[in-house]
Parts: sequence; C-alpha cells; structure tokens
Amino acid sequence: MSPVEVLAALNPVDHFISSSFSKFIGSSDISYDPVVLPASIDDAAAENWRLDDEKIFSSLPPLFRGHPEIHLRKGIMDATRRVAANEADAENAFFVADLSQIFRQHERWMKYLPEIVPHYAVKCNPDPYVLRLLAALGAGFDCASNGEISQVLGIGGVDPSRIIFANPCKATSFVRSAAKAGVNNMTFDNADELCKIARAHPEAKLIVRILADDSKSICRFGIKFGAPLEVVPSLLLKAKELGLDVIGVSFHVGSGCYDPTTYGDAIKRARDAFIMGAQAGYRFTLLDVGGGFEDARFEAAASVLTDAINHYFPDRKGIRLIAEPGRFYVSRAFSLAANIIARRAPMIENSSEFVDLKPTSDEPSVMYYINDGVYGAFNCIMFDHQTVNPYVLSLNGSFHVSSSEPLSLCSVWGPTCDSIDCVCKAVELPSALQIGDWLGFDNMGAYTICAASQFNGFEFSKVVYTTSRVGGEEVRRALCNLAAKGYGHGVGP
Ligand SMILES: *Cc1c(COP(=O)(O)O)cnc(C)c1O
Repeated sequence: MSPVEVLAALNPVDHFISSSFSKFIGSSDISYDPVVLPASIDDAAAENWRLDDEKIFSSLPPLFRGHPEIHLRKGIMDATRRVAANEADAENAFFVADLSQIFRQHERWMKYLPEIVPHYAVKCNPDPYVLRLLAALGAGFDCASNGEISQVLGIGGVDPSRIIFANPCKATSFVRSAAKAGVNNMTFDNADELCKIARAHPEAKLIVRILADDSKSICRFGIKFGAPLEVVPSLLLKAKELGLDVIGVSFHVGSGCYDPTTYGDAIKRARDAFIMGAQAGYRFTLLDVGGGFEDARFEAAASVLTDAINHYFPDRKGIRLIAEPGRFYVSRAFSLAANIIARRAPMIENSSEFVDLKPTSDEPSVMYYINDGVYGAFNCIMFDHQTVNPYVLSLNGSFHVSSSEPLSLCSVWGPTCDSIDCVCKAVELPSALQIGDWLGFDNMGAYTICAASQFNGFEFSKVVYTTSRVGGEEVRRALCNLAAKGYGHGVGP
C-alpha cells in the first residue's frame, strides 16, 4: 500500500483532518522525511530527499536539489502551513523549474546537431537562471530588443558576438544601442531596415531573413517577417549600394513546427539565397536555421535538417551554422502548481455531498477556479495556441489519489473577472476536488511567464528552482564556474 500523506486543510470546514495533520502544521521545525513521500516518486530515495539549497548568485533565489515533483509537494506543504498561519497570499500558484532538464536538452542538441551552435531565443523565457545556465554552457542568444540584449550582457562574460539581434524590424534607437554595446549580428528583411542600419550601425554584420514555409507550425511568422526569395536580389543590391556587409541567411519555419520536412525546404531556399549573395558580390559565411524545434519531434527535425544541409551545402568550409531554438530548451523544464480557490458545483438539498446531476451530459458539471489564468502564465493558451492538461496534485488535502477516484467532465477557470479567462473548457478530473486542493500543469516553460500580466491585481507566479539527478551536478558546476568568475551576480533579472 502506498503511504498516504494528508495536508492540512486550507478550509477546515470542508475537510476531514487526519491525525497526520499535526505533522505539517503547528510545528515550526518541519523536516521532510522521505518515508512520508508516496512511493510513486522513485527518485526521492536516490536524491536522499536533499532539500539543501545553494546560493550561487547573490541576486537570485536559491537553487535546490531534488526532483521537481518533490518541490511541487514541498511548495504545497509550505503553502498549507502558511495558510494555517493566516499569511497573506500563502496559497499563490508557483512554478518549479528543473534546470537539469535544460542541461539535458542542451546535451540532446549537441548530440543531434553538433555542427549548429544554438542561440537561445530569449523571448521564449527570459528567466535569469535559464539565461545564466545557457551562458555558462556556451550557447549564444537570439535577442529581439534592447531590453533582451541588456539582460544577456548584464550577466557578464557573454561576448556581444554571441548575440544575434534577430528582429528584422528594429527601432532606430535599438540599432544605435546595439552598435554601442558591440552587437553587430542583426537580421533584416526589407529595404527600409537597410537604410536605418546604414545610418545607425554601418558596421553591422547583416543576415537576410528569408521567407520559409510556415504552414506546418502552430505559430506562423510569415505574414509578418521574411523576404520572399524574389526580392532578395534587389535587397542585396540595395545593401551593396549602402556599403553594408551582409554575411548570411536566416529563416524561421514558425514556432511549434509539427512537420520536420519543412526544414528541408527552408534549407533549399537558403541555398538559393546564398547563390544570390554570391551574385551580388557577397561571400556569405553564416547560415541561421532559426527556431521552431519541438521537444517531441526534435530528433526527426534534426535528421531532416542534417540531411538537407549535407545535400544543399556539401562543401561548407567557412560557413558557420547557428540556430535560434527557444521552446525546445525550456518547455518541459517548468511545471506550475495552482490552487483551487473556488468551485461551482451542483448540490442537492440538505447535503454537502457533490452529486453529478447530469451524468450523461457532455457539458462540464463542475467548474474549478484556480489562481493563475490566461492573463498570467496561461497566456500561452491565447498567444501560443496551447492546450494545457491539468493533473491532480492534491485531492481532499491528500497527495494520494486513488486510481478508482471517480472522474467527471470539469472546466478550469483563471482567477480574474473576465470570462475569457478559461484554462480548460472540458477536462476529466475528480469531481471531489475541494477548495484548497492543487492542480499541476507540466510543460509550462515556453511562452508562459514572459508574457504574463498582472491584470485584475493578480501577481506573477513565483519560481522555485531545482536540479534533479541526471545533469544536476553538471548544472551546478557550470553555474558555480560562472559565479566564481564574478559573473551573474548583477542586480535584477
Ligand atoms: C520566437 C523566435 C524564435 C524561437 O522560436 P521557437 O519556436 O521557440 O524555437 C527564434 N527566432 C526568432 C527570430 C523568433 O522570433
């Protein structure tokens, strides 16, 4: 039998409080003993349940050890105690970020695309630990604004040559600031941008962003960015006329590319653009294959890409290959725990028991309201066209969820007063979840935190950082090396 751990009830009126209740509240010195953990966390033993934190960077929160699931539970137990102590905002939603997962993605990248230097797309998740880790691992960065460039250079130890300013339509003042900061690599896809750069940063090393087929991607970029191949010769002519140096070609197949063959077509177009470059009198030395890499299809995309590069660029001595992955690195590294703050369920008279009044209906009968929503971390539903899958972190105050627990169709809502704030329209969840219980959401690292707002007075969900076993020591070593050189301590993000 798996051990059952019972949380203190957030709203004791609704809950049966078990005898183990006192284990988690009422004592200020709580030790998290591995024996109380459910058997499902097999990593726990191997981790020795070590929750010792390490302060590597003075300006950042500590870095813990342990599987992210452990920290989801620890966060819930902490919240439960703080709720019991009447602390304000005690039950706020929170993220757990596993930096080891980012390291493992980097290893995967180096294994399958060893020739291509990743330039992490900062916009995807500009988390300070993520940026420091990737800086320490030797990645480059794709920045789209002055702010992102400052954030990356603010770490220290990142040479501006490791940055590509990959926004083809930049404010003039941003181009000037880039010039001042020594950031020379930048993309363009139109003639006006060339005139602007000629005035503001004539020494820039330019990369022409060509249009790729983005029809197989969740987020398409083609209607906004990318020069069709037909106009590339005239753009290059213009660049020559202005005395600008164009060094290569970039494309982006769209974010969340679900058809890896798209990369093959894009590489063919890039080869055509290289030929146009030579015709215009340039010798291109950079091929930037952009982003779009999805965790689940990474190996397939890498294989198509490698084959296409071998086919269209068989002799690539003197050509530097780079990419701009965002989602691939961070999506799986972050999980979110959200608290059920309210619910709306049908009741029968004289009973507090939930009764599903419409068992045959396909309409959700229970509405759960949680404390992060589409104006916060779940903005990915609106902007990134994501669907999210909640799972139960605690049920009726317990981490133990029986497999025979009855499920019904439920809807999950964010905390704001707007009805657009719907996290899941219809999802199978236990109908017995109580106010104070917790839902978990995995794969919350990409395009979530970065675009969250504080609409309606709800704060951003905070992040707890950890390293799990595989890659954990490598992460620590990399970060400690960076810190020992005096980098990464700067104030702010
Ligand atoms: C958003 C973006 C990326 C990152 O895309 P992912 O799909 O997250 O890999 C890379 N390059 C540019 C220019 C972008 O705009």
